[in-house]
Amino acid sequence: MQSQIYPGKIAHWVNGQETDSRSGNFFPKYDPATGRELGKVVRGNREDVEYVITAAEKAAKAWQSVSPENRAEILKNAVALLQKNIEGLAAILALECGKSVKSARGEVQAASECGTYLAEEGPRHFQKPLPSKLPNRQLELIRQPSGIGALIVPFNSPLAGIAWKSFPALLCGNAVILKAHEYTPYISMRFAQILKEAGLPAGVFSVLQGLGPEVGQALIDDPRINFVSFTGSVATAQIIIKSTADRLTKVLIESGGKNPFVVCEDADLDKAADAAVASGFVDAGQRCAAASRIIVLEGVYDEFKKRFLEKVEKLRVGTKDGDDFGAIISEKRLLEIEQDVKNAVRSGARLLCGGTKLDRDEYQGGYFFAPTVLENIAPDAEISHREVFGPVVALYRARDFEEALRLANDSEFKLTGAIHTKDMKLAQEFIDRYQAGVVRVNGPTHGSEPHVPFGGLGLSGTGWREPGLLALDFYGEWKQVSFDE
Ligand code: NAD
Repeated sequence: MQSQIYPGKIAHWVNGQETDSRSGNFFPKYDPATGRELGKVVRGNREDVEYVITAAEKAAKAWQSVSPENRAEILKNAVALLQKNIEGLAAILALECGKSVKSARGEVQAASECGTYLAEEGPRHFQKPLPSKLPNRQLELIRQPSGIGALIVPFNSPLAGIAWKSFPALLCGNAVILKAHEYTPYISMRFAQILKEAGLPAGVFSVLQGLGPEVGQALIDDPRINFVSFTGSVATAQIIIKSTADRLTKVLIESGGKNPFVVCEDADLDKAADAAVASGFVDAGQRCAAASRIIVLEGVYDEFKKRFLEKVEKLRVGTKDGDDFGAIISEKRLLEIEQDVKNAVRSGARLLCGGTKLDRDEYQGGYFFAPTVLENIAPDAEISHREVFGPVVALYRARDFEEALRLANDSEFKLTGAIHTKDMKLAQEFIDRYQAGVVRVNGPTHGSEPHVPFGGLGLSGTGWREPGLLALDFYGEWKQVSFDE
């Protein structure tokens, strides 16, 4: 049965309208909660890329000459429309991602807040006077557009991800082409329609549908692309950096995490267990900032484990508003998660709960995975280092704080991390010595605010930050200007 809120066919968005692919091919989009086909998506190719970049080139010049204040007015209109359409957008997100409408509504809210903050505060940050040691010289920095950009997003929190990139990119006066994720194609189209209704000129924001290695690759290969903003897996990040290296293209990378959550002996164990459950199982663990390594000091290991498992066993999986987390995005990802757990158990891990797909009764046909907790894992085991991106958490026992810190740092990913302790000296030690982009004391490893820059080091990212004002440094170019009398 065709869904009421999902179209049977999803196209590209070029020049302010839906546009078919020159390939004439399609791929299916499935509902993660039922496994049923929701619709067909056009499968973009190189010819489509040529067409969309030409449209962006035509639109770019006029958009660049609009003042930041006037660009911000259009973004404010877009935020108002996101709010006006919150129920419809949340319904699409819930369906595409296999999560509850409540959680999807929160995502529309987060996307709106990102837009509001940048549209209100951003225009004040396009010009900076600087002192000069030379007499009679006036110096300033002006922020100019970077040009035509490719925005490439992951499937998790797709609307928030699109907002994090699109609002600062558009505020800076760029024309951008969003490569929609193959698992979340329709929310990108709705975002494009909202921008049009908000007054954005045709061609400034386009959407390409299709597969990453096909249309995504063709997009980043085009020399007219001045910058690429990418959030996704390390494997794709590496392809993007290599593909654009010859042109020295400006590239923002936000990649994965293998985030540690440290529980010290003086921690409030109930609070820590709540935060660990929230961090490990948010969006079925399909969050870059999810905690996957829970490192517990020896003295409280058994007690923490007991309280943690009691809470995990109460988690409700499903897409109703009262459920704690929903489906895995695709059958392929579901099978990979199951395989990762099997491999861990085969190499010595003890399975404390979960470990299997949920496919009976209400879960039939869908891609659900039980909340899973492992222990007795060697720090050098594959699962200690691989980002599973599912509802799978491992417990590690540490002799003392130094060992906990060493385990926390023992990852090529360096995105977020949390420590639970009442000892602020210990917390400060963790802040100083845990190498990552985000450290949380007595809180969860995930969660963001619209003005707070987020990002990681090592395999987690290349150092640019979104959202907030620092994002403008990626999407715009500072030009130094001096006036001599
Ligand atoms: P992915 O790398 O498989 O896909 C991301 C996007 O890249 C998709 O749109 C895909 O079509 C595109 N792509 C694939 N190959 C391409 C190519 N050759 N050229 C151009 N584009 C190409 O990632 P995913 O599985 O969708 O997302 C999950 C990953 O994203 C996880 O690793 C997660 O940690 C990470 N993530 C990071 C953050 C962050 O802020 N650090 C936020 C969310 C997700």
